[in-house]
Amino acid sequence: MSTYRVAQVTEPDGAFELVEREVPRPGPGQVRIAVEACGICHSDALFVSGGLPGVSFPEVPGHEIAGRVEELGEGAAERGLQLGDRVAVGWFGGSCGHCTPCREGDFIVCRNLKVPGWAYDGGFGEQVIAPVDALARIPEGLAASDAGPMACAGVTTFNGLRRSSARPGDLVAVLGLGGLGHLGVQYAVAMGFETVGIARGAEKADFAKQLGAHHYVDSTSGTPVAEALQSLGGARVVLATAGNSEAITATVDGLAHRGELVVIGADTAPLGISPAQLLMTGRVVRGHPSGTSQDVEDTMAFSALHGIRPMTEPVRLEQAGEAYGKMLSGAARFRMVLTMG
Ligand SMILES: [Zn+2]
Ligand SMILES: [Zn+2]
Repeated sequence: MSTYRVAQVTEPDGAFELVEREVPRPGPGQVRIAVEACGICHSDALFVSGGLPGVSFPEVPGHEIAGRVEELGEGAAERGLQLGDRVAVGWFGGSCGHCTPCREGDFIVCRNLKVPGWAYDGGFGEQVIAPVDALARIPEGLAASDAGPMACAGVTTFNGLRRSSARPGDLVAVLGLGGLGHLGVQYAVAMGFETVGIARGAEKADFAKQLGAHHYVDSTSGTPVAEALQSLGGARVVLATAGNSEAITATVDGLAHRGELVVIGADTAPLGISPAQLLMTGRVVRGHPSGTSQDVEDTMAFSALHGIRPMTEPVRLEQAGEAYGKMLSGAARFRMVLTMG
């Protein structure tokens, strides 16, 4: 094969078009991956809209990539890669190695983080060139269409919880039951937390229970979310997966003393939190930035061990535009995943 297909947009928020391109060669320290599946994440909109500095068009988004190594660049074999290896590439698409966070070994907050779809063409296509340090090995038994979403949605929730102050038995609330939250609930349960799912509407209660949640809080019931959490004893951690500042703010008074609000849902509106809500109780509010390729590997291993899977809706690459639109409008029930081949 000398050409491959990508779904690209040629202008900010333009329509997706399918084009043929010449298959690129991996450079030193890179591999070429035959993409098998790529999840569609809400963050792809940051690139498709051209809203971030450095985004260039034509733009090929996609940072929930799963596939097989098909060609090794110089030095890749020395770093343990073989042809045919099953690998995933997520939001962490490699780091620069020379900025201050990198020199501190904190690669996920690299100032020049190489996010696929931003630093290089992403996974909305049949081939991707990625640096070796971005690759996470996919365990046996985990399908490509499940591995892709693990590399962003999965690792962000898994890592957000395991790096939090919550310990087994603690009350942990997951705000939102969407692409991130439905994984967050499953991880929280498997990690041994008393788990609360929070979402809009009484009809989501069954879904929360299906995911293993011990409690469900309907944020539209009339009872404030904070009050509902306090009646359960107060949350040690709230993992805020919903990209809705108002909904996130409403959980703060539901935190226990020294409780922690971990924000992973993106919104640009300010959080309406007063110092008084934090001071006396020693509460903490912080953001959590996804995870490195090793974290992705840990996420996939944990998921395989505990039978945790994302709920996905596979669609063909040809339908990228339609699927992206469905994700953006909130009409997608599950994680939309593009499949190739
Ligand atoms: Zn993402
Ligand atoms: Zn760096």
